[in-house]
Amino acid sequence: MEVEMDKLVSLCKRRGFVFPSSEVYGGINGFWDYGPLGVELKRNIKEAWWRDNVQMRDDMVGLDCSIIMNPKVWEASGHVGGFSDPMVDCRASKERYRADQLYVFVYIFPAVNHKGEPTEAWLAGLGASPEDAAEAPEKRAAKLAKKFGKPTAPPTVIPYMQIDVADREKVIGPSTEDRGTLTEPRSFNLMFKTFVGALEHESNVAYLRPETAQGIFANFKNVVDTARVKLPFGIAQIGKSFRNEINPRNFTFRSREFEQMEIEFFCRPEEAPEWYAYWRKARFEWYTSLGLKSEKLRLRDHDAEELAFYSTATADIEYAFPFGVSELEGVAHRGDYDLTQHMKFSGKDLSYFDEERKERFTPHVVEPSAGADRATLAFLCEAYTEDEVGGESRTVLKFHPRIAPVKAAVFPLVKRDGMPEKAEAIYRELKKHNNVYYDEKGAIGRRYRRQDEAGTPFCITVDSQTTTDDTVTFRDRDSCRQWRVPAAGAAQALRDLLEG
Ligand code: ATP
Repeated sequence: MEVEMDKLVSLCKRRGFVFPSSEVYGGINGFWDYGPLGVELKRNIKEAWWRDNVQMRDDMVGLDCSIIMNPKVWEASGHVGGFSDPMVDCRASKERYRADQLYVFVYIFPAVNHKGEPTEAWLAGLGASPEDAAEAPEKRAAKLAKKFGKPTAPPTVIPYMQIDVADREKVIGPSTEDRGTLTEPRSFNLMFKTFVGALEHESNVAYLRPETAQGIFANFKNVVDTARVKLPFGIAQIGKSFRNEINPRNFTFRSREFEQMEIEFFCRPEEAPEWYAYWRKARFEWYTSLGLKSEKLRLRDHDAEELAFYSTATADIEYAFPFGVSELEGVAHRGDYDLTQHMKFSGKDLSYFDEERKERFTPHVVEPSAGADRATLAFLCEAYTEDEVGGESRTVLKFHPRIAPVKAAVFPLVKRDGMPEKAEAIYRELKKHNNVYYDEKGAIGRRYRRQDEAGTPFCITVDSQTTTDDTVTFRDRDSCRQWRVPAAGAAQALRDLLEG
């Protein structure tokens, strides 16, 4: 089913998945906080990524680098010079837009000029999406129609300008003559600047990292010298990144502070195409293994003009979000570009010596670069389901058990006959292995619904039959099927279900 974005955002707020950052002060655009359920969900996603890509492999090691690095890193990587988006300001609304994501919505009405001659009146709206652009003029159009009559043509939405995707600095040209109240596009660097030390002087400028990848390249030699790694091998990192996005939007999808899960996989140059094909497939399958099974998950190869100049092949793993098909992860064959750049700027030798072949060379790299927040949002969209149980409608988050924030909830049917004590003992036992929840308040049906909304795969209820045969009721979230399990075997039964 297709989830509506506002329904998902309101569920996330209501149930404590995601809150606007510093909301008591009116929030701050582009920043989000994960609540009690959200933090568990996102941690489970990051842990699944780390487990599957680092700990389960023999050819991968991890790193955790600092967020602020020597600013030369960002000169070498090209971020100081080129990490920018084209930006325009609207003088009328004082809004700022990314020019390559700006839409103009135009109505043309028949009108008369001051001499009484027939002419045309234009009504235009600007927005960061076609819907945004259409919103304002639709109301005003109704008023104009009363005055002038019907528009002469159906309204159209056009992108403000087309940007050369291979070289974002280059504006091919506006797609409308009517630039109206917009300033000329100019490039805007997306890195957050700060000062290190007491002096707010140019010489102390530093940046919050806009990606985690460069920390990996900067540590390439440290890892080779200390970790006994041999090509081919990868270095992985999960951590916060910061980009001063011009238009943060679509909930957590485009934030100014976000978390990345990145791998740099180093190999011999001639083996790079094979490793690229391997990671392109492996990373796609990782999402399906955690439940992104629908046709909404896609793999799109970049065509030649979309490729960065140093890349011979790049593919995006995309998801059809309610606001459009958008990137979850990029897998790029980056050649030896990054290590070569860092050698140039640092003056240090970052080449690799192959002991067996007695050869020295600069490894090539394949980079699968994912966003933890975008993955979390995709899993939320995929899981969101509205269905009917016993004639009653319910909202259920059908998370894969591995990423579900709470694995099981334990209930006493009623608060008497020793049921709470028994349920609590089971809860304490389960808690040793899993994140579980205990709830004794309210009607049992309501308690089930609350867990369905939190995405809890199993509920375990102690009821009157428990007092006679020492079994408990297990309930499956998706099918609502119920069956009985000996109380003493509840922990093992849950483990089997979660692993199965
Ligand atoms: P986009 O074109 O959507 O801005 P990008 O191509 O600039 O993304 P990369 O630089 O390839 O993104 O970053 C790798 C990953 O980091 C992305 O696939 C995404 O999951 C995540 N990411 C990048 N920018 C943001 C952001 N502003 N908010 C949340 N996640 C992000």
